[in-house]
Amino acid sequence: MSIVDEIHQLKKEKKAVILAHYYVPGEVQEIADYIGDSFYLSKIAVSLQADTIVFCGVSFMGESAKILNPEKTVLMPDRQADCAMAHMAVKETIQKVREKYEDLAVVCYINSTAELKRYSDVCVTSANAVKIVKALPNKHIFFIPDRNLAHHVAKQVPEKHFIYNEGYCPIHDEVREKEVRKLKDLHPQAQILTHPECSEKICRMSDYIGSTSGIIAYAGRSPQKEFIICTEEGVRYMLEKENPEKIFYFTDTVPICKDMKSITLEKIKHVLKTGENEVQMTKAEAAVYEKPLKRMLELAK
Ligand code: SF4
Repeated sequence: MSIVDEIHQLKKEKKAVILAHYYVPGEVQEIADYIGDSFYLSKIAVSLQADTIVFCGVSFMGESAKILNPEKTVLMPDRQADCAMAHMAVKETIQKVREKYEDLAVVCYINSTAELKRYSDVCVTSANAVKIVKALPNKHIFFIPDRNLAHHVAKQVPEKHFIYNEGYCPIHDEVREKEVRKLKDLHPQAQILTHPECSEKICRMSDYIGSTSGIIAYAGRSPQKEFIICTEEGVRYMLEKENPEKIFYFTDTVPICKDMKSITLEKIKHVLKTGENEVQMTKAEAAVYEKPLKRMLELAK
């Protein structure tokens, strides 16, 4: 029996579903029941009937799924897979900013630890951040942890005052202007599609800025045939699957998130078989963390 068949069989036995982020390896996306970005996966997680969720992604994603589904078993194929940016804010700074501004909303990118979410008023993803910040009644917005996404959102909501935090994604922030220009010189017809976790320099030279699902949707509906993609390389799997006639270029220094790439079929099989790497969280803890996530789902409707 192939490993893929074994996983399907274990899934049935354990009444499990597999969720996968666009950045995990292609063969993992291939066996997943649902593939998407953080927003899609967090929405899906609340509507699932399954007893067990295997979350193919990094730790904050599994935590979010558990917060929204405290009754379910959430398994992480790799316990060590983590997002560096998720830790790039501290509660002491949040407290200081709260003391300084009366009419403040702490807006927390979903790429953050459960602990940071706890001190925030609302969560956002790159797909819904603008909509949610616009809908907030507050004048002052402290956006954590990603400074690049914060600047991107701030440009589209000029009526609000933004306070920035110095967090960043080490993968997206490393996409180099020189390498993007080189690709554009080689393929002048290609459109540049960029994730807002990239630096302002890259965003400024882009034809489209949006979430991973936004980039996939844009490439699909565009009549253009060539695209320069400025986000994590895992998105190539879905772009090429849905658009076999189109060409997608990535920079020479290919943006690869090692933590996302650490998810393998072997590890999925192992956690399904053993039940290891379960996200541990009591119902009481989940209730403390859930407020900003539920508010996001409400405001994003
Ligand atoms: S690509 Fe960046 S933001 Fe996404 S999980 Fe990896 S480190 Fe975190």
